Amino acid sequence: MLYLGCHLSSAGGFAAMGKTAVKIHANTFQFFLRNPRGGAAKDIKQEDIAEYKKIASENKFGKILAHAPYTLNPCSKDASIREFAQNVFADDLQRMENIPGNLYNFHPGSHVGQGVDVAIPQIVEILDAVMPEAKNTTVLLETMSGKGSEVGSRFEELAEIISKTKINDKKKLGVCLDTCHVYSAGYDIVNRLDDVLEEFDKVIGLDRLQAIHLNDSMTEFNSHKDRHECLGKGSLGTEALIRFINHPALRGIPLNLETPNELDGYAKEIDLLRRNYKE
Ligand code: FE
Ligand code: FE
Ligand code: ZN
Repeated sequence: MLYLGCHLSSAGGFAAMGKTAVKIHANTFQFFLRNPRGGAAKDIKQEDIAEYKKIASENKFGKILAHAPYTLNPCSKDASIREFAQNVFADDLQRMENIPGNLYNFHPGSHVGQGVDVAIPQIVEILDAVMPEAKNTTVLLETMSGKGSEVGSRFEELAEIISKTKINDKKKLGVCLDTCHVYSAGYDIVNRLDDVLEEFDKVIGLDRLQAIHLNDSMTEFNSHKDRHECLGKGSLGTEALIRFINHPALRGIPLNLETPNELDGYAKEIDLLRRNYKE
């Protein structure tokens, strides 16, 4: 089954996102629970949730993916920023309980000079503190491009975070792979997809891979930049992305586009991928 969607605005609530998804032939989507800068969260209305659940089940949606605000930095040098990250993270996970069985993705953060060895225990500490809130949600660490001092551009870093947490249940803590980010980080998913997935399996475990961000990249391989591009207009190219979604190891994992598009652009990319997916 191809679960394919894109990032949608949550301004109109869950049912509105569900309806939009159906309109553009998506059967999953990504959204923010609050302003991406980390402001106040939107009220969750039970009627809206009930209507959303009906749309999702009628249209056989896959798991949907909430994205943490970009300002959430669990490994900031600044203790007050780490505290903010923990509070927002915990609050978001409590909100996710309204839509049980879905996914919450976050960036491991930027260590801003203090080094990965300091950053990783800080990320682990926050994860251990907030995970009890994730009763029916799977939390995902996103693979990063490695721009600036980002943590998580190497599979080893994500594996180390996961192994150092107290969370034993594999279904609770996983990874979201971003195609633009990994390619920018130096994993050649255009020419060596099998090898990259084998490496992911060896280092992290493919059973941890629970969501994919499908993006082309404005910058070249191994550039350590984070510039998403529309499918086919970047350095990955349409062919590589079609090969990617058809890879046997990635079947059934929900894919979300984060390409620089409005809805009609997303709809075109979704249709292109659906036409080129072999059941
Ligand atoms: Fe992200
Ligand atoms: Fe992403
Ligand atoms: Zn990105």
